[in-house]
Amino acid sequence: MKRILRTITWLCLLLAMLSGCMVAGGHDPEQVSNVGYTAFIHVNLIPMTAEVVIADQTVLIDGKKIVAIGPSSEVSIPENATVIDGEGAYLMPGLADMHMHTNQDWDSGVWPVSPLALYLANGVTTIRDFGPTGRDLTYALRWREQIEAGTRIGPTIYASGKILFVSPLGDPQGLVRENHELGFDFLKLYSYLSPEDFHEALITAKELGMYSAGHIPFAVGLEGVLAEDMNEIAHVEELLFEFIEFDKGKKLDIDEWWAYLKGSALEQFEISAGFEGSGFEHQHAGTMARIIEQLHSAGAPLCTTMVVDDVVQQKLFELDAFLARPEIGYIPTAYLDLLRQGEEKHQLQCKGIEDLCAFKYDIDRWVLTELHQAGVPLLLGTDSAILAVVPGFSIHDELRILVENGFTPYEAIKTGTVNASVVVEKMVGEGDFGTIEAGKRADLLLVNGNPLEDIGAIRDLKGVMAAGRWYSRELLDQLIATD
Ligand SMILES: [Zn+2]
Repeated sequence: MKRILRTITWLCLLLAMLSGCMVAGGHDPEQVSNVGYTAFIHVNLIPMTAEVVIADQTVLIDGKKIVAIGPSSEVSIPENATVIDGEGAYLMPGLADMHMHTNQDWDSGVWPVSPLALYLANGVTTIRDFGPTGRDLTYALRWREQIEAGTRIGPTIYASGKILFVSPLGDPQGLVRENHELGFDFLKLYSYLSPEDFHEALITAKELGMYSAGHIPFAVGLEGVLAEDMNEIAHVEELLFEFIEFDKGKKLDIDEWWAYLKGSALEQFEISAGFEGSGFEHQHAGTMARIIEQLHSAGAPLCTTMVVDDVVQQKLFELDAFLARPEIGYIPTAYLDLLRQGEEKHQLQCKGIEDLCAFKYDIDRWVLTELHQAGVPLLLGTDSAILAVVPGFSIHDELRILVENGFTPYEAIKTGTVNASVVVEKMVGEGDFGTIEAGKRADLLLVNGNPLEDIGAIRDLKGVMAAGRWYSRELLDQLIATD
């Protein structure tokens, strides 16, 4: 009976593909099942438990879990299993985008295709929402349930609730409790909090056992953030402010803070000399050593989100080439119009201080390299889908940037697999992904080339399995087709 059902499912899938009805918006996710057995045979296995490739392996999945792994000559495959021949290809764990943002408008046709499908089509099988956007933020939790139930297509979701954004919060304790009661996985804190509000919020989060992550509030600083035991820092670039001398005690509004910090940076950094010429590294070596020591003793990880800097540079200095990139076609047209008119957020922020924005990227790259060399835990994150950081596609740019800055491909992949699962374990008590081992969630990428040799190989996917649901390349292409 099971076999007949499975055959019908696949026939439906085939028919749906032929009739073209599985395009974005019109897809029928119920067609992709994760019931029963699936076997990947003859794959080159990259388990991510160590830097190895194991030839000619079979990986057996039952439902959404991996149940057996071994040489293809030894693992027996149940008669009713769906068999995927991976001869010549590489099987690696799915990637996590550990810092991104969903938006309720993803359901209203603002995007030409669902960003959730863009993540899957690029091998992102886990997303962590660092602040949903919409009228009722619980949509992110509903999407999570629907994805799990198979009525919506997408990666596994973890989500923060309402961001604690700017002081005065009024009732910081109440806000934290509300986020917790609604079922959000962690608390997100932002740059404009006072030390008092930050303290109250963190105390409450600790009481509730709620994981906390965020920016380093200007008035608090790294030392203060770690003293309050915030679990994680949202961006590597947050450390930039440690290199600027400024008075944390000032009472400023948001615009005033930015004007003050920008003015201080312009005054203190030798921007005209260029990063290399300015001697920045030498001048700030002591601060860097202090930061590393503080991060080490706190054990706090940071999200990388370097692609944002990369995209800013492209928007400022290579706009035409940027707009010509194929994935830009997925960005909502209203946003693209702003970009063409030079009215987009980053363009406005960097207007007249383009050199400072370029200098900042150099600082961030240096900081990234130093943190990596010092063994500070880092998490792969892109800050998609905002400000022209395209969901899914940006994960490959993030990986590329890590490798350009001294990571081996294995180390880069680790930030979005092994390291991600360690943090999710700490956050919600189960981090059952990130390696290919029996008992783990079946989040798997079948890749044509060897990603441990060339990180760019992950762009060329034969298919993606997300929580046991298999999406072939053909199906993924259907899901993200724009015409
Ligand atoms: Zn963010």
